[in-house]
Amino acid sequence: MKRFGFLLATGVALLALGGPAFAADAPVLPPAAVKTATDIQGKALAGSGAFGFVESLTVRVGPRLAGSPAAKLSHQWAEARFKELGLTNIKVEPFTVDGWERGLEMASITKPVAHHLHVNALGHSVTTPPEGIEAPIVRFDTLEDLEAAPEGSLKGKIAFVDKKMSRLQDGGGYGEAVGVRGKGPEAAARKGAVALLIRSIGTDSHRFPHTGITRYAEGVTAIPAGALSNPDADQLNRVLALGQPVSIKLVLSSQAMGTLNDANVLAEIKGRELPDEIVVIGAHLDSWDLGTGALDDGAGVGIVLATAKILKSLPQAPRRTVRFVLFGAEEVGLVGAEAYAKQHAAELPKHQVGTEADFGAGPVITFNANVRPEAKPVITAIGKILAPLGIVPGRGPSSGGPDIGPMTAEGVASAGLGLDGTDYFDYHHTADDTLDKVDPKKLDQAVAAYASFVWLAAESPVAFGPVDKKDH
Ligand SMILES: [Zn+2]
Repeated sequence: MKRFGFLLATGVALLALGGPAFAADAPVLPPAAVKTATDIQGKALAGSGAFGFVESLTVRVGPRLAGSPAAKLSHQWAEARFKELGLTNIKVEPFTVDGWERGLEMASITKPVAHHLHVNALGHSVTTPPEGIEAPIVRFDTLEDLEAAPEGSLKGKIAFVDKKMSRLQDGGGYGEAVGVRGKGPEAAARKGAVALLIRSIGTDSHRFPHTGITRYAEGVTAIPAGALSNPDADQLNRVLALGQPVSIKLVLSSQAMGTLNDANVLAEIKGRELPDEIVVIGAHLDSWDLGTGALDDGAGVGIVLATAKILKSLPQAPRRTVRFVLFGAEEVGLVGAEAYAKQHAAELPKHQVGTEADFGAGPVITFNANVRPEAKPVITAIGKILAPLGIVPGRGPSSGGPDIGPMTAEGVASAGLGLDGTDYFDYHHTADDTLDKVDPKKLDQAVAAYASFVWLAAESPVAFGPVDKKDH
């Protein structure tokens, strides 16, 4: 209804203006702002410094599991970088998170033939007894098949869900497969299983299992849950194909650590004309504990800091305030993002747009946005300025990134700079997510895209939001 009303009003305005004189050829972005955007891209491509930030984070801090001492160290690290860059309004905003720690992890096929398996506990998995669990395996193709198993049919058994993830450039295979990880443990527990194993949610064929968060509904008793590496899942299938009963022994000693402190770390460049209006560029500072979180999401942190560095080097501040947000506890369920939306609820209507870099180290290949209708011509114009970087319009409306979700749920506009995710899920949430996977040149291209977008969003003559909530 709202949209229809707007179109009607525009139609009337067009008639009143008498057609051709309507500002069809007038630039929707100020030419000076466009020139600066091009300069920003040139600077970033010549060497944005983003790789150095990722290196510093992964070397000086390393893995940074939510609520851990390393997460706290990462907050201090981020604060120091923001200070060095000369940003203002630097804040460490605390919240609490359910802590969890990984322990010993071992799995092996014990019958009908012995094979060692590579396993990692899934986030929030409970421990097995110290001596482990040994039980027959029941295999399912999908989560739906597991959910359809008769009540009590898995009593005393280990459920194995063998869902394969497909490799797609936009990472679309993840959404299709990841439900097994989030909901599988609860589904298996409800059927009486003593443990759950899943095929890793990943596209590689290496023996690094992919961890990730799991969720249980209230009142369901948690069972130990782990992921097998893809080659180990393949081997388990070969053994199952022998047609004899197969048993697995599983030892996991992960444990809950109670309520722990975590935080988001924020800083700003104050807007020169509209300081109350805020463009948010974010990434998440926390990571899983297995690798060093270089791709997920050290690269995003590098993009955010390098964007701050370039914008800070410009002769004049952006028209609106740019806020750089390094979210905590993304991996364990967007805890930092929820805290941000809550703590900043009063100023969300003044958020121009939110965007996050949380899909590896580039390059950026697509651009799309979810803005109010009046701002769509500006998005089209920005798309043209991004095009020389090899960026094409993305399909469908953009979510802006996982940590932007709680803001968009309140009507904040979002923009998605889609990174090339072809290889991302080879490393995601594994011990193999390390700095050598980050290509400095691709990362510079991503900074060119993010920084020029953020600049133009801050310079836009039109507000991007609020977006009608039912558009999401
Ligand atoms: Zn991430």
